[in-house]
Amino acid sequence: MRRLLVATLATALTLAGTGAAAQAHRQAAPAPGAPGIGDSYYPDYGNSGYDVSHYDIRLRYTPSTDKLTGTTTILATATTDLSRLNLDFVLDVSSIQVNNRPATFAREGDHELVVTPARTVAKGGALTIVVQYSGVPSSKVAAGYTAWIRTPDGAAAVGEPEIAWWWYPSNDHPSDKATFDVSVSVPDGVEAISNGVQPRPPVRETLGYTRWSWRSLKPQATYLTFLTVGQYDITTDTTADGSTVYNAYSQLLPQDFRDAAQASVERTAEITDWESTVFGPFPFEARGGVVTPPGTLGFALENQTRPNYSSGFFRRGSNPYVIAHENAHQWFGDSVSVESWQNIWLNEGFASYAEWLWSEKNDEGTAQEIFDYLYATYPDDAAVWTTAPADPGVAELFGDAVYDRGAMTLHQLRLAVGDDAFFAIIRTWVAQHRYGNATTAQFTALAEQISGKDLDALFQAWLYTPSKPVLTSSLARTLNVPAAPKSLAKISETHELLNGR
Ligand SMILES: [Zn+2]
Repeated sequence: MRRLLVATLATALTLAGTGAAAQAHRQAAPAPGAPGIGDSYYPDYGNSGYDVSHYDIRLRYTPSTDKLTGTTTILATATTDLSRLNLDFVLDVSSIQVNNRPATFAREGDHELVVTPARTVAKGGALTIVVQYSGVPSSKVAAGYTAWIRTPDGAAAVGEPEIAWWWYPSNDHPSDKATFDVSVSVPDGVEAISNGVQPRPPVRETLGYTRWSWRSLKPQATYLTFLTVGQYDITTDTTADGSTVYNAYSQLLPQDFRDAAQASVERTAEITDWESTVFGPFPFEARGGVVTPPGTLGFALENQTRPNYSSGFFRRGSNPYVIAHENAHQWFGDSVSVESWQNIWLNEGFASYAEWLWSEKNDEGTAQEIFDYLYATYPDDAAVWTTAPADPGVAELFGDAVYDRGAMTLHQLRLAVGDDAFFAIIRTWVAQHRYGNATTAQFTALAEQISGKDLDALFQAWLYTPSKPVLTSSLARTLNVPAAPKSLAKISETHELLNGR
């Protein structure tokens, strides 16, 4: 919503510039970019005044000391006449160049880096920002915690919404996506894994270090960019359509976890091929997964092309549901990203519904059976009902309303419009917003447009009202508590970990 305001303001300046003269010139004087991009939940996340197109992140990391040194080059375009700009970052900066001249810089708050270029940059002008830095990421606290995870043999830069601050400077908000090159030098024998494809194999450098290079060819949100370092066993394959599969398993996994993890993650190509038949073509150039050491991650994250998984998902055997969930995010979250964090159910509700569809496909319980069970068993005063999925607030950003009620909303939509219209809505949604950003209002409008139905009452009850929706008689099924579908134990276990409970 606030982003709309920025766009409106930019339009006003443009109109003023082309219209009346003197006043317009005063308005268009170079101004500092704001320390936030306008997110309603996180006002100081991201920054305004520029739009990043590419990050080149070049690092050296030593697991034994957690010491990280690096240079990140940011290619961007000024979206206003810019005298100053902010980056989001917490490590120690030694120098910044903007357009090949030294810039001055200062810290503000817990993650703002305020950069003053030697020359102002005109609206539409190119920005090349080079930041040199170093630090021990695990020693830095911001937003009240340390998102960087140090593991027994390395580290995992995997987190949502916060993670980029601890390893590269950025415009840290999903509404400013960019392509990435991530190149990391680590001690010989250590693996360094990131998103996308490898433009070249690991190359030995001097002094016992090997450089790993990764490239993301499609726009990628900052929080979906990851780095996992440690002792990993790698498996590789090629999908039927010719894209790379690259999986990594921590060597610290006990054998039983390892077997169960492999029996799940090795099915990534199969599961994403099935998802492609439901959602449309897989949006990215590579697929895979990373399973981190026990006791480190505690959740899974849908990192673009290659989700990271806690080993905990596999402690009670294989779990294709978490694979279906994280990879559904490749469409819902990664390709179609939230315009602001308030819209998070567009990620989690859809990825959760993908689990229901996987259950249905595998005869482990239909989506209707899962809906009936959840509807009947959540207590009336549970957060799933007292939180509106379309505006969960920061405290419930990853709560049950966003996951389970989000999925229940989609199921109610499916019942209301029928399977043909429902899956047409889903595929059109994915195609229309591919590699972009979207909002709840855009989704509900599309659903009405494709179905030709007035769905205001349905969405009002399911997305916007903080109380348990009443089922209309045509959609009500049973007042008795139904038996739990076969898939429910796995889905519940998956969600307990995903919700961090
Ligand atoms: Zn998810």
